Amino acid sequence: MASEGSGGVSLRLGLREQMRALPDEAFTRLQFLSPATGCFNQCAMCSQAAGRDVWQLTRRGLDEVARALAGVAAERGLTIGGGRGHRPGVLFPYLDNDMGSYPHLDTYAALARDVLRVRLRFCTVGWSARSDRLSAMHRRLVAEYGDVFDGLRFSLTPYTLGWTGRGRGFDRAVFVADLAHALRTYRPLLDRLGHGPATAAVELRFAPLVGVTDVVASEIDGRHVLRAGPHLLIGAPGRPGPPLT
Ligand code: SF4
Repeated sequence: MASEGSGGVSLRLGLREQMRALPDEAFTRLQFLSPATGCFNQCAMCSQAAGRDVWQLTRRGLDEVARALAGVAAERGLTIGGGRGHRPGVLFPYLDNDMGSYPHLDTYAALARDVLRVRLRFCTVGWSARSDRLSAMHRRLVAEYGDVFDGLRFSLTPYTLGWTGRGRGFDRAVFVADLAHALRTYRPLLDRLGHGPATAAVELRFAPLVGVTDVVASEIDGRHVLRAGPHLLIGAPGRPGPPLT
């Protein structure tokens, strides 16, 4: 049997020491516990548009962090995320990353349930259906870890590289097919949680079709005329509009 080695032990002890230096609120008010930083989607409105570097915790690294966190919380009798008003006891595994592309999300779910004793909020713009490994992992999550999820949200956004088609290898049709594949995968869980903004939803994040411009009201040949930017509304004959002021 392979031994863990002194590196693993000192990593664990080092993590615990660092976490012991944290105040209680760092545990009880913890909300975002991201296993990665950086994002492949590079949405135009996000800080991650600037770079392509993605750092992800290894499976073992994730395990070490979760066990150190849970161990120090247990030493103090604290409940992780239990002191928040918003979704207490629920962790969000995303901040500047897309958790759908994290390859050890099933391990994260197992640690959430068995070690951290929390539930998870799920949010993604999808993942590449061409990745058999990711797709198999998501199927496993739906089949075995559905109870870990407090809510699911898929974002349909025009800001991702996939939607815009900016850059080599990005194609909107593929992006849409990937999202459809992700929704099919999660359909059983979406139905089980019940559709709604706090439970299971697809969020449309398109800019509103609203412009701010001056509106000019006038009357021409007995017709009420409204002009706003390039648009013109002309009243029907004999149907005067409200008095012009
Ligand atoms: S998916 Fe989220 S984290 Fe990734 S680039 Fe878009 S907004 Fe940023």
